[in-house]
Amino acid sequence: MTGRTGLVWDDGFVNYDLGPFHPLRPIRVKLTFDLIRSKGLLDDDTVEVVEARSATRDEIQLFHENSYVSLVEEYSRKGSGLLDAGDTPAFKGCYEATSLVVGASLAAADMIMGGKISHSFNPSGGLHHAHPERASGFCIFNDPAIVISYMKSKYHLKRLLYLDIDAHHGDGVMYGYYDDPTLLNIDFHESGHYLFPGTGFPDETGKGDARGLKQNIPLPPSTGDQAYLEAFREIVPRVVRDFKPEVILVQCGADGHIDDRLAHLRLTTNAYSEIVGEMHRLAHELCNGRLLLFGGGGYTLANVPRVWTVAFATLSNKSLSDNIPIEWAKKFENATKDPIPGNVHDLPTTDTEQTTKQVRDTVAELRQSLKMAEH
Ligand SMILES: [Zn+2]
Ligand SMILES: [Zn+2]
Repeated sequence: MTGRTGLVWDDGFVNYDLGPFHPLRPIRVKLTFDLIRSKGLLDDDTVEVVEARSATRDEIQLFHENSYVSLVEEYSRKGSGLLDAGDTPAFKGCYEATSLVVGASLAAADMIMGGKISHSFNPSGGLHHAHPERASGFCIFNDPAIVISYMKSKYHLKRLLYLDIDAHHGDGVMYGYYDDPTLLNIDFHESGHYLFPGTGFPDETGKGDARGLKQNIPLPPSTGDQAYLEAFREIVPRVVRDFKPEVILVQCGADGHIDDRLAHLRLTTNAYSEIVGEMHRLAHELCNGRLLLFGGGGYTLANVPRVWTVAFATLSNKSLSDNIPIEWAKKFENATKDPIPGNVHDLPTTDTEQTTKQVRDTVAELRQSLKMAEH
């Protein structure tokens, strides 16, 4: 498969810093960039580092309400206060830091729409919980939601696919476009019975003309690669081929990983590689390769860079050896107090029969809800 791949980068990504005791550690995006580079994935001209930019206020307001944007601006100047019930504290310069994350996703969108590159990855993006009028779940401005609106208005797109594989339900994006028939939204996540934000059930299939276009697959804790991939393969390729998107957006939160500190799924790097590989193939088959990958959650520093490096290698169609480069191990050691991971790829795991059955039941439930949505 041909197509050049962009990696959006700016050293300012690490300024999205919710504080020293917050579980979202900004160093994870820097360690990701460093691992991608140390593994030689940027060494030939099929890959390009794309410069980020800051989003303008008008662009942010493609999704967010004016009064909320003003509030973020005010708290950003003050450098204190809470932007939601407690998970998302304001910090000095938070307006600028989150505008850069949004602008990076917009730059990625422009690159793939301009046709110069086919795929792009913004590791700092994927802030999928923010709502039009409020912050939520560590997310101040919702960059995927803004990109969707931006691509619709600037490039007149009529069929966009948003796939969200973060361990948490992408509520900000889904509810933001719940009645919008131009957006097919597919969201795999740990069930809201166990995990924030407590939404994203199979009966939430969209409203009005968009009924049937919002598909939620809540998974039980301990869901591993096999059960997850079985559900994924059963749902995604068929639904996506039927819809024929003009662009594919994937929120690739790394918190579905087996060792994540905040969530309880059991995915390995192998599942991420399969998922991104399948979306990559579908992008070439259906929409000239146009695929924008966002980061997202991910709270264990030894995992996030590996998961996203595997995802990036898959996207750029490169093989990725298993060794952890010494220079990167040193950077990791200096930046964290965590044990250095021994390998890039995880060993395969085995699922339990119980979770496999639960996941199959959820897929059946979704099918039933979609059938009802047709009537
Ligand atoms: Zn490709
Ligand atoms: Zn998450």
